[in-house]
Amino acid sequence: MIARALVVAVVMSGPGLVPAQSSQPLANHRDSMTQVLLRGGLDTATTGVLVYYVPGSEANARKLGTLLAASLRYFGGSLGAEIDLALAIVDSARWHLITDLPYGLPSSHGGARIAFLPSTPTGPDADAFLRVERSAPSGAMETVRRRYPSWSAGVARMLNLVMLHEVGHVVARTLPIHAPNRWLHEWLATYLAYAFMRSARPDDAELWDAMCDALFAGYTPQHRSLEDFENATLSIDNYVWYQTAFQPRVRVVYEAQGLDFVRALQQDFGADVTPRPSPADLLARLERMAPGFIVWATRTF
Ligand SMILES: [Zn+2]
Repeated sequence: MIARALVVAVVMSGPGLVPAQSSQPLANHRDSMTQVLLRGGLDTATTGVLVYYVPGSEANARKLGTLLAASLRYFGGSLGAEIDLALAIVDSARWHLITDLPYGLPSSHGGARIAFLPSTPTGPDADAFLRVERSAPSGAMETVRRRYPSWSAGVARMLNLVMLHEVGHVVARTLPIHAPNRWLHEWLATYLAYAFMRSARPDDAELWDAMCDALFAGYTPQHRSLEDFENATLSIDNYVWYQTAFQPRVRVVYEAQGLDFVRALQQDFGADVTPRPSPADLLARLERMAPGFIVWATRTF
């Protein structure tokens, strides 16, 4: 009964590569979540951030905790974003005590300030990237082969890197930057993740680019307009395709402006505005900040 009640009461906010499921966050935040995790038998690892993990995943917990801590230091030092975020590496059974999202979708619980990753590299995000191995462009394949023994090992790392996209959402909330459209909200979370990787983990940035190139090239989406990203009900694969479609523009703007573009967004989108601008209006506004948005959107969507 406790588990059943928790499934109803606890929801995720800002999940990585799938749409958020709306509900109210827990009022008592991390304390309640911590009790759930500890009751489930997770241990903690000292890495500079709090990490909960299931038995058997200590090495991964330490590695990812170190990565999370490094990203938080980066955003504190470069953007002044002081962030308190813990990490939980959770198995399937405990996952279902915490959320009704499918197992394996990296996600974060805003109220509890905990990011969640699966303890095994499985789930819909992993499947989406595993499926495009055969159709991967040669450049993407070479990048993955250079660093990893197999495509699936690269996918496992990619799934862990989605944690940084979650951190990106938290950074954007903290600054704050109120992205007025769903697509910019997701684009920005990846932009922040990518800025950290390019600055501190260039090998991971290369993997991120390669995996995004492969999925973008290898998946035929049912929906492919920015309007549909705002309004349509998307399959998880289609949603992940959009995320990979954003990446080339993330890369180009990052290489031109780096974190200055984030500071510019902070200036322009510091206030929460309604109604939301149309995709065309938003693109025109972004075009003035970083020329090329309109051409990118026209060619991509
Ligand atoms: Zn996201």
